[in-house]
Order: sequence, then C-alpha cells, then structure tokens
Amino acid sequence: MNRRAFLTALGTAAAGLAAPGTAATVLARDAKPETEPLATLYDLSKCVGCGACVAACREAHAGAYPEPRKPFPEMSPARVKAEDFSEARDVDDRLTPYNWLFIQSATVAKDGRPLTVHIPRRCMHCVHPPCAELCPWGAAAKYPDGAVRIDTDICLGGAKCRSVCPWQIPQRQTGVGLYLDLLPRYAGNGVMYKCDRCKDRAAKGLEPACIEACPQGAQTIGPRSRIVAAARELARQTGGSIYGETENGGTNTLYVSPVPLADLDAALAKGPGRPGLARTADVMGEQANLAGAVLLAPVAGVVAGALKLYARAKGRGAKEDGHDHA
Ligand code: SF4
Ligand code: SF4
Ligand code: SF4
Repeated sequence: MNRRAFLTALGTAAAGLAAPGTAATVLARDAKPETEPLATLYDLSKCVGCGACVAACREAHAGAYPEPRKPFPEMSPARVKAEDFSEARDVDDRLTPYNWLFIQSATVAKDGRPLTVHIPRRCMHCVHPPCAELCPWGAAAKYPDGAVRIDTDICLGGAKCRSVCPWQIPQRQTGVGLYLDLLPRYAGNGVMYKCDRCKDRAAKGLEPACIEACPQGAQTIGPRSRIVAAARELARQTGGSIYGETENGGTNTLYVSPVPLADLDAALAKGPGRPGLARTADVMGEQANLAGAVLLAPVAGVVAGALKLYARAKGRGAKEDGHDHA
C-alpha cells in the first residue's frame, strides 16, 4: 500500500496502541475489533538478502537492548541456564536479544535450476498469540494495531513465551530486569526480547524501520484483509506459496515464496534462534492451552499491573533503558 494509505490505516490502528489488549480481550476471538489490525507482507522474490533491514532494526532499537548486571545470580534449580548474548552483540545470523531480525537463506531447485531465497525472520505477530495468552505475568500482550509486544519492564524471563511459540521467537538475556529485585535465585532468569514491530515509530505515525530501509520494497504493511488479498493475488500471479495466512491460526506476518514451502523449509538450517517454515497448527486451538488461557485471563492483567507498579517503585523501566514500554 502507498504511504498515504498506510498512514490512514496506522492512524486508526494507533488509537489503541498505548493500551495492550488484556488477556480477556485477546481471548475474545469473535469480537469485532474497533479497527482492523495491520499485517505485513514479504514478497520473497524481491528480497536480495542485503541486510539493510537488519541494520535499520538495530539502529532503531539501540536504546532498548539489555545491559546486564554481572556476575549473574546463580539460579535454583540450576537447570535454569543463564543465556548471555551481551558479549556477542554482533551476531546477526540468528535471533538474539540484540538482533530481532535476521536473514535466513536457503538454496532450492526451481525449474531445474538452483535459486537462493532470502527470508527476513522475526516475530510473526500471531492473530492468536500463545506467547501473550499464556504468559503467567501478563508481560506479553497483543495490541489493537496487530502487533504482539513484550513489556520488558515486567518480564521475568521465565521463557514461557518461547516454549509455546511455534517458532521459539523470543530470546532471553540473563542478568537484566525485574527478577534481580524480586527473587534473583528463583524467579525467571532475565528478560525476553523480540521484534516489537517498531512500537515507538508506530506511535509517531512512522513505518517500521525495516520496511522503510528496504531498497527492494520487499515488505509492505496494511490492514490484514488487504494484505491477505495482496498475498493471494501475488501467489496467483507468480505461482507462489503463502505462509502465515493460516499458520498458528493466522499471523500478521505473511510471506509469498517463489518456491514450494516444504522445499524451502527442508533446505533451511534450523536451530535455536533459527526458526523453520513448517506448516503449523493453531496452538491456542488446543483444548489444554485454551483452558490455561481462560484461567490466566482474570489474573494476568492484575499481576502485570502490580509488577508495573513495583518496577516503577524500583526506578526500573523507561528511565532505566530509555525505552517507553507499553
Ligand atoms: S511468533 Fe511467537 S513470539 Fe511472535 S506473536 Fe507468535 S507466538 Fe508470540
Ligand atoms: S518491525 Fe521494527 S522491531 Fe520488528 S524487525 Fe522490523 S525494524 Fe525490527
Ligand atoms: S532490506 Fe529488503 S532486500 Fe535487503 S534483506 Fe531486508 S527485506 Fe531483503
């Protein structure tokens, strides 16, 4: 969509940006949202893997990256391992607390010839995000603009969000955050970080930094219904395959791949911080997870509020890391 249409859509979506959907509203799947959430579309045939988007993301979030306190407290039980990327901030071939976007590449055969496909990877911003619906502390939330964000002021780093995410997207940094003041040996183990779809830029009416920086115009943003329609049309015209329309019940990040997704997924090097592109069922459609979310819904918002107050009393939060957390 063009810039004007984007700003119009963003203006309405941004009306609810300051307030996250509570766990209860996240669960209200059939309720009509006041405004249509925004989604993004990657045309993978356009991405050349230049990394300009990755650099732009890093620059835009330089003030939000963790500055851990060392030595780390010893955790009890000891099986909760420290995760430390503070000495590896330049790593850009996977997701880390300091790298919320990376370019995953794979070479597959197309029409009998090798074709290298570059896939910008970050949070998918799920329509029904298990990370938000199952966070015990209400630190992760889905926002009316369609983004899913983690409040790093109150996240305790227990990594529930990562364990329930089909792509294990959030990344933990130990030695930072509220757990240091609460129960450093027993609660969580740091803070979880991931793409926040440029919350601060969105509040100012700006596109995400990665979209603005792309010299190929590989990514667009707009109301989800229009993005889905655009993805279907692109796939029809090019014989491509769509990822994100139905994965995990639908996401607000869609890809159109020029090669079959099964081939692409098979060719990807996967591992921690390097998600795959497998077809994924709706995690929140599973009875046990839905029941867990229903039980958490009444308390998650209250707990999040209490943690927020505690964080403020401790002088943590926006003042500490220069980031205006939701
Ligand atoms: S991709 Fe993972 S971290 Fe992102 S919204 Fe979905 S469940 Fe949450
Ligand atoms: S939307 Fe913003 S936070 Fe997310 S990957 Fe792009 S630049 Fe980074
Ligand atoms: S800036 Fe655009 S072309 Fe370059 S890697 Fe990112 S999405 Fe691909």
